[in-house]
Amino acid sequence: MKRILTGLQPTGIIHLGNYIGSIKQMIDMQDKYDSFIFVADLHAITIPQDSKELSDNIKKLIALYIACGIDPNKNTIFIQSENIYHTNISWMLECNTYYGELSRMTQFKDKSSKNANFTSGLLTYPVLMASDILAYDTDLVPVGIDQKQHVELTRDIAIRFNNKYGDTFKVPEPYMTKVGTKIMDLQDPLHKMSKSSENQKGVIRLLDEPEIIRKKIMSATTDSETRIIYDPENKPGISNLINIYSSITNMSIKDIENKFKDNNYGEFKKEVADVTINLISEIQDKYYKLLNSNELDNILDKGRDKTIEIAKVKYEEMKKKIGLYR
Ligand code: ATP
Ligand code: MG
Repeated sequence: MKRILTGLQPTGIIHLGNYIGSIKQMIDMQDKYDSFIFVADLHAITIPQDSKELSDNIKKLIALYIACGIDPNKNTIFIQSENIYHTNISWMLECNTYYGELSRMTQFKDKSSKNANFTSGLLTYPVLMASDILAYDTDLVPVGIDQKQHVELTRDIAIRFNNKYGDTFKVPEPYMTKVGTKIMDLQDPLHKMSKSSENQKGVIRLLDEPEIIRKKIMSATTDSETRIIYDPENKPGISNLINIYSSITNMSIKDIENKFKDNNYGEFKKEVADVTINLISEIQDKYYKLLNSNELDNILDKGRDKTIEIAKVKYEEMKKKIGLYR
């Protein structure tokens, strides 16, 4: 079975777009791959974070993923900062990576241009990412287009190290996940629903109260017509609601248009709210049970112990090859 590895940054409560566009695909992959999922908390601190909030978000993120259906029996789930070998390996890799390579990374150029006071962690972030990947002989790294460059750098670093010190790392491949349905902001259906969106009214968070979810959906922006027809260009608001309904119920767009051909927008919105609340309530039930039990800690302890064992072997091998021993 091929091994895949996914890192998630604990930078905010995930939303319906994340669930439909990404988590559902991860659930699909867990049956086909030996899957490692970690909270990339060390990556999150490349930009300033509030410590209490960060700590809360780490646990919340993992609990939410599991509540959504990421199965702890099929995935190795862990927290990056609990495995010291990631940073230890990263240092040795940094000393085999050029400043020029890192300063050319698009994400670094982008983020550093927004704030003149950026940290050196922002520059070396891709090497830590390489260490996350290479420590586990990962075959495939599922990424969006924005992270592809970092996986290519990881390959360069691995090949360079292998050439210099002998075969040490498996050279990973980026795995472009199929693009899921893009869920748009309910208030501004021309822009996607985003964690970092300023306006909360257009974003359905997986921890929103049911009444809040209903309110957000009932007040979603639509158009001045009355018919429930899928036409993203002219009717982006209604089309977005149709996409949400279709993704949650697995009903085709044609069937949805048919089912609601005699209904008005208000009636349709009520149905969209019902299925959404149904889904999210189920996720929240599992989430709160998990948070209030020892189960989450057990899962994370198990993941930590297993990944430390694997990464330690890689770390010792690197040390030996580099000459770091008595
Ligand atoms: P941010 O605003 O901080 O960039 P985000 O909402 O875009 O947050 P990410 O953490 O960047 O979320 O993305 C996590 C995953 O969710 C990615 O795979 C991304 O493609 C997917 N995703 C994010 N927003 C949507 C959306 N509106 N519809 C479908 N998929 C989405
Ligand atoms: Mg994003």
